[in-house]
Amino acid sequence: MATNSNELHTRTLAELAGGLAAGDFSSRELTEALLARIESHGSSLNAFITVTEEAALAQADDADKQRAAGEVGPLNGLPIVHKDLFCTKGVLTTCGSRMLENFVSPYDSTVVERISSAGAVLLGKTNMDEFAMGSSNETSYFGPVKNPWDTKLSPGGSSGGSAASVAARIVPAATGTDTGGSIRQPAALTGITGIKPTYGRVSRYGMVAFASSLDQAGVLTRSAEDAALLLGVMAGLDPRDSTSVDEPVPDYVGGLSKPVKGLKIGVVKQHFNEGLDEQCGNAVKDALKALEGEGARLIKIDMPNIDLSVPTYYVVAPAECSSNLSRFDGVRFGHRADEPEDLLDLYCRTRGEGFGEEVKRRIMTGTYVLSAGYYDAYYLKAQKVRQLISRDFMNAFEAVDVIAGPTAPTVAFAIGAKTDDPVTMYLNDIYTISANLAGLPGLSIPCGRADGLPVGLQLVGPHFSEETILACAHQYQQITDWHQACPEDFR
Ligand code: GLN
Repeated sequence: MATNSNELHTRTLAELAGGLAAGDFSSRELTEALLARIESHGSSLNAFITVTEEAALAQADDADKQRAAGEVGPLNGLPIVHKDLFCTKGVLTTCGSRMLENFVSPYDSTVVERISSAGAVLLGKTNMDEFAMGSSNETSYFGPVKNPWDTKLSPGGSSGGSAASVAARIVPAATGTDTGGSIRQPAALTGITGIKPTYGRVSRYGMVAFASSLDQAGVLTRSAEDAALLLGVMAGLDPRDSTSVDEPVPDYVGGLSKPVKGLKIGVVKQHFNEGLDEQCGNAVKDALKALEGEGARLIKIDMPNIDLSVPTYYVVAPAECSSNLSRFDGVRFGHRADEPEDLLDLYCRTRGEGFGEEVKRRIMTGTYVLSAGYYDAYYLKAQKVRQLISRDFMNAFEAVDVIAGPTAPTVAFAIGAKTDDPVTMYLNDIYTISANLAGLPGLSIPCGRADGLPVGLQLVGPHFSEETILACAHQYQQITDWHQACPEDFR
């Protein structure tokens, strides 16, 4: 049967891979169909900062030629978009900031390079919170991203453009980064699958740094199967990132068939406290019951230090950000203030003009907690508490294989609803941040509805247990269809 290019956007990455392999359509046809979809549906969401149309078509033609010659990489001809903080050679890489508004990267990040060497076709770069600081995509210099389930709502952040474009079936898959929840929280708020791997699993080389001990690249897709496919390509040692780990990369796709029977799932007492919206809590509990029905064992656990995650993160992350962002000084690259009087004036005005409010707030907080008089009281203390939180996880993983609970305390909230109150905004990551502090892999999958909007189930496992959490997510997606739901205006 001839393929109708009007429905190619409805397919997952795995389905598209099958169609390309069977010769049902070419990468050129697929790329043209999705570029048309970006044109017709992308602007209403403000999900893209750059669309790389010409290069995409050329890459698609190359992929088709490679296929004809029998040289097929694991992502041959498949479309992808990158969060706009992955340096992409010859392409604008803004990080959602005025500071990098005109920055064209001279090199590829490892993630971009690996995905492209596997044969994928890059369609564009997605909108994001400025320097990945935010939970709603409202701190972007390029304006907020809208949630396809209701365009008055935020898709979450900071990988909001990636999440919205996957949820709206504009693209099947996108990369993202997660420093405190920026893959999992927007995945939850838009009803898609998102995985943040173990710290060190994927190279950070060429990712614009926010908080180096917490940042990790991952993917946003419509299914755990697609996430497994992409992660397998991205993961692995990279000599250019000294924190990437020399640990063999398992066959994530092959591991998906592992049943959940016998899996010990930890349910954390502190995850179901008063901060959790009741309907969200019910959806998560139903998902846990469904897993129990498949033979998993639910085990109650206590993590006494987990409630300290948000305050700890908001010392550690700003501290690292204040150091990382010192490189934006108007001298080497990025924005430069006009006609400076002297060097100090150049620094001050460049940074004053180039950075938005939230980024400045983080830099000031970070500088303060690292200052001589307050270092011990804040930074050192936070590092100690970080250890206690890690220890809570290590203790938990002696009794359970994975921890399951809510990804976010609420469903998607209105654009503008939390912008005047940073602390309320910060609390949206209350369930995700701890995995970053402990360097653990976490993923979010859609598991139900509250007020008609998607709810996310989060799975966190021990270091390098991506295979286990992906398999558990995949098995859940075999018995439920939440991940197949599509917002009405984007079918
Ligand atoms: N929302 C958190 C913050 O603003 C996490 C961001 C992220 O993971 N990049 O810092």
